[in-house]
Amino acid sequence: MQVTQHLKEAKGTLISFEILPPLKGKTIQSIFDHLDPLMEFKPSFINVTYHRSEHVYKKRADGTFEKVEVRKRPGTVGICAAIMNRYRVDAIPHMICGGFSRQETEDALIDLAFLGIDNVLVLRGDAAKNESSFEPEPNGHRYAIDLLRQVVHMNNGEYLEEDIRNGGRTGFCIGVAGYPEKHFEAPNMDSDLSYLKAKVDAGADYITTQMFFDNQKYFDFVKRCREHDIHVPIIPGLKPLTSKKQLNVLPRTFHVDIPNDLSEEITKCKTDAAVEQVGTEWLAQQSRELLAAGVPVLHYYTLGKPQVIYDAVKSIL
Ligand code: FAD
Repeated sequence: MQVTQHLKEAKGTLISFEILPPLKGKTIQSIFDHLDPLMEFKPSFINVTYHRSEHVYKKRADGTFEKVEVRKRPGTVGICAAIMNRYRVDAIPHMICGGFSRQETEDALIDLAFLGIDNVLVLRGDAAKNESSFEPEPNGHRYAIDLLRQVVHMNNGEYLEEDIRNGGRTGFCIGVAGYPEKHFEAPNMDSDLSYLKAKVDAGADYITTQMFFDNQKYFDFVKRCREHDIHVPIIPGLKPLTSKKQLNVLPRTFHVDIPNDLSEEITKCKTDAAVEQVGTEWLAQQSRELLAAGVPVLHYYTLGKPQVIYDAVKSIL
């Protein structure tokens, strides 16, 4: 079922999760072990991230190096199918521009449609580790909006081949990313919001936000979106802080602020367990406030920490 339909039928705030495919070499059981306990909360959908391949240098026997392409977390589409099969819950694959030509994107979307997947979260993806800025594939998309347009065309029965202009229509509900603290490349918030509005005008059905640790950032973002004539649902994305290291890593990686109260509490902790306890309580408190504000969905980034998410959600429901 499409996310928009879930929202239409909802009697209150829904719950959803995002997971990462396991590192190559692990089995699907690691995903099931991760998700099994969380199913108690009857999530309406589960997002599965997509990870582009990276160039790495491998040492040959003679001591020289060769450049090879490695995808550390493959399997997004297969995991979506496995989730739908095991739990009868909608799975939402993330689709990224990076690493895909238009033709490969079309083929991937055809696979998703054949699998009965009704939703995609459309993203640009980050620059590869060896790139200073995002570079599209030859004949690939530069911005999320370009990929989004391709999905919209397929929803209208239009494929890349000129002669298929009345083909089988796909029925994807399309989500896009939004940044309460601005996307790090955008020169300012107004510019970022105007590109977000363009994605909505081009056919995005809803927005899922980057993580934030201060709910006011989300409330302000929703207000500014509405002022920019963006009226689709805005789903807040939530992540627990679970280690001291993240106090520096999360701002650097995701360009988000950690409120002073939270960073002080975490800094005081003497053990990892104490950090997790603070992170769980902060997440629960954020969730309670968002729930009281009537947000459409509480969307949790589980990022390998299902127990913390479990404890936080259990404490608010
Ligand atoms: P875009 O919407 O293309 O925006 C990128 C930047 O370009 C922004 O600064 C924007 O203001 C600007 N911009 C947009 N359109 C134009 C235009 N036409 N002209 C000029 N500038 C423009 N990454 C992954 O690799 N895999 C994932 O699974 C994944 N999942 C994510 C899920 C969520 C909910 C979020 C919030 C992010 C996720 N990301 C993922 C990270 C995301 O790919 C990066 O943040 C990426 O840098 C931007 O993606 P976007 O879709 O927001 O890009």
